[in-house]
Amino acid sequence: MTLIQAYQGVVEALRMPIQMFVDSNSRLHLLYLFSSFGLAYFVYRRANFKESFFAYVFKKEVWLSRSAFVDYGLVFFNSFFKVFLIGPYLVFGFYLSYQLEALLPQWFGYPSQGLSSTATIVLYTIVLTIMMDLSTYIIHFLMHRVPALWEFHKVHHSATQLNPVTQYRIHPVELVINNAKATLILGLVTGVFRYMSAHPIEEVTLIGANVLSFAFLFFGSNLRHSHIPLRYYNWVEYIFISPFQHQIHHSDKEDHFNTNMGSKLAIWDWMFGTLVRSENVDSVQFGIGKEEVKDYDSVVKNLVNPFRNLLRTWLGSSSKNPLAERNR
Ligand SMILES: [Zn+2]
Ligand SMILES: [Zn+2]
Repeated sequence: MTLIQAYQGVVEALRMPIQMFVDSNSRLHLLYLFSSFGLAYFVYRRANFKESFFAYVFKKEVWLSRSAFVDYGLVFFNSFFKVFLIGPYLVFGFYLSYQLEALLPQWFGYPSQGLSSTATIVLYTIVLTIMMDLSTYIIHFLMHRVPALWEFHKVHHSATQLNPVTQYRIHPVELVINNAKATLILGLVTGVFRYMSAHPIEEVTLIGANVLSFAFLFFGSNLRHSHIPLRYYNWVEYIFISPFQHQIHHSDKEDHFNTNMGSKLAIWDWMFGTLVRSENVDSVQFGIGKEEVKDYDSVVKNLVNPFRNLLRTWLGSSSKNPLAERNR
């Protein structure tokens, strides 16, 4: 890498967090921020708070907390990581889908009739969404259940205040795993549909894929990481994870550990017995316990401590095994 390329990478990384507000695929896009305000207002009105709406949404102890500054710092740190990783990921995804497209006819022969363009849009969108969501659930489940992975995922859970940026409070190791998973699923599903459809996937499917993600982003995905407890109707929470259900996932209380691990869909939690609905919970406190939170109150600690803890566990020098404790 030349010096110029490195410089361009750094500039790109600095621009990335700002671009999130205008990128329509980003949760922090202005439109989704506005829809979040609307939903927050609905919660505010129903609860009859004495403070003003502005004071309710922009609580100082949330947005200016030490925990929040760790979130902001990690977003910048991870941007550098992403810039240098995105290229290889994309190449791998393309490679995988082309390989599949070439392999499938050898195994199953050519389909007698390719899918129509409408069928391609609808099916590809649904299959991709479901496969992405299921794989996200599985990876998230493993993050909570496999002690070594929990060390890295703990960074996300160490937040004691949630704001929309907390979404991106992720250890770089988890970032790599999540991106690898997404690339793998995208490559696999796209490869299969290239084989089955008579139409170029990239052109016909963009619209469809955006309709579902638009709905998800519009209906309060930003409130998942916030202090605003937006609940859905009881029966809806069996199908879609509401913002408050994700807040329960962040709860400090033992009963709530390892629950609501789904991303968009709640059905995986329902199927695997990890679902908790809002009606069963009044309020939650976020974090992983007072003792442990002290180990995650700076950007550097969040980056380094997962490795330190793993090393300690492997060397057997830890007096207690925090992983075992939480994951009983
Ligand atoms: Zn989690
Ligand atoms: Zn979260």
